[in-house]
Amino acid sequence: MAYDVVVIGSGPGGYVCAVKAAQLGLKVAVVEKRATYGGTCLNVGCIPSKALLHASEMFHQAAHGMEALGVEVAAPKLNLEKMMAHKEATIKSNVEGVAFLFKKNKIDGFIGTGKIAAAGKVSITGDDGKVQELEAKNIVIATGSDVAGIPGVKVDIDEKIIVSSTGGISLDKVPGKMVVVGGGVIGLELGSVWQRLGAKVTVVEYLDNILGGMDGEVSKQFQRMLAKQGMEFHLGAKVTAVAKAGSGAKVTFEPVKGGDATVLDADVVLIATGRKPYTEGLGLEAVGVALDNRGRVEIDGHFKTNVAGIYAIGDVVKGPMLAHKAEDEGVALAEILAGQHGHVNYDVIPGVVYTQPEVASVGKTEEELKAAGISYKVGKFPFTANGRARAMLATDGFVKILADKDTDRVLGGHIVGLGAGEMIHEIAVLMEFGGSSEDLGRTCHAHPTMSEAVKEAALATFFKPIHM
Ligand SMILES: Cc1cc2nc3c(=O)[nH]c(=O)nc-3n(C[C@H](O)[C@H](O)[C@H](O)COP(=O)(O)OP(=O)(O)OC[C@H]3O[C@@H](n4cnc5c(N)ncnc54)[C@H](O)[C@@H]3O)c2cc1C
Repeated sequence: MAYDVVVIGSGPGGYVCAVKAAQLGLKVAVVEKRATYGGTCLNVGCIPSKALLHASEMFHQAAHGMEALGVEVAAPKLNLEKMMAHKEATIKSNVEGVAFLFKKNKIDGFIGTGKIAAAGKVSITGDDGKVQELEAKNIVIATGSDVAGIPGVKVDIDEKIIVSSTGGISLDKVPGKMVVVGGGVIGLELGSVWQRLGAKVTVVEYLDNILGGMDGEVSKQFQRMLAKQGMEFHLGAKVTAVAKAGSGAKVTFEPVKGGDATVLDADVVLIATGRKPYTEGLGLEAVGVALDNRGRVEIDGHFKTNVAGIYAIGDVVKGPMLAHKAEDEGVALAEILAGQHGHVNYDVIPGVVYTQPEVASVGKTEEELKAAGISYKVGKFPFTANGRARAMLATDGFVKILADKDTDRVLGGHIVGLGAGEMIHEIAVLMEFGGSSEDLGRTCHAHPTMSEAVKEAALATFFKPIHM
């Protein structure tokens, strides 16, 4: 069978690229080695983790957050099996949604492991060992990423006691003690889930701050909030061993700067030290597709590899490992393959941590602006001064806006607070249009909303906020 485009991998990069290419009139096939479409994101990543974050937050609210509002309920009882069933049902409806989109757009889906046999040829090996071959004018590598271990430490992940995020979203009981290795987004989100359900969670992080790469002030204040919730942190700590012991495990770490080792006991250890590009078994070496020094498929500004007719997008290439970045690359590449001018603005890709409160960020951090020698001004507004936040007892957090000192153009926005992941988008849209803090501050915002804090932070950046 001959196609205009064969996409290998059906995650948010691959399936979105396929749908867009089909919408633009191309004949498209997708090859996926999992039993269901949707990739890491829908099967074991974004979607299941958010189902658990929401459900565990509801449990926590029922236990702790309602009395002050005059709602007195008996102590809630956890039914973990039902919570997991909710997660599974959420996955099912989402992966079925992708299958529906394939059908609607006349995309041929193949379940099996894809391999690039040669430029223009993709072979598919099914579970039964049968091989079939597709001809493709263009091949898109969208094979995503896989769990990375701890550099230099041999860890035996059994997905029961020592787990990756995949095991971490499927535990069958709440651990008494959970040690999370890695204070990044995934570690803090899943750590929050199990902490809300009753686990004592300790995070061990190599860097001196959590959420490496986020704005320093945001990261510090957010850590304080998590500590207030009971999460314990060991920062600047290098894990040297993770090993099973009895019915649990032991995690050994030492200060990065040198010093005595500490050993922590855990019922479950979550390894959340990042992800690595997944290129195994694709036959890239034989076809001559180049990888960069971090094992990612090397691409040019138009997602083209060094081999004609072979492209790559998503977690398997450079850039932030985020579903929406993969999706936008999928759309841009489909447009390019259809003869249009697809483009991704890498300066405006929001990042969200779906804890409570949420952390959301877009554009530059203060540290990045300083390093680039850009003169900037800062405007901040705390949710303690926002009427709606007070009414909802959601006063934790703040909005921070960074703008060019001379032109007032907004260069970055950072929000810690309830619903930060939704609020960040007005700053993203503003930045897409090259808007200024004055533009944002003069935009009428409905009252009373949490978003008024975004407007006030913009006013603070431009001149002065009203309500502070
Ligand atoms: C626990 C967790 C939570 C996350 N939460 C978020 C979040 O809230 N927001 C966010 O933006 N990102 C989140 N991410 C990251 C997000 O999942 C990834 O950035 C995103 O899935 C990348 O999309 P992709 O299409 O590049 O690859 P993937 O989603 O990894 O999909 C690649 C697909 O390719 C398939 N494949 C690989 N090799 C082959 C082959 N040879 N043949 C056929 N198929 C193959 C794989 O089976 C997989 O299904 C999370 C990740 C995890 C693990």
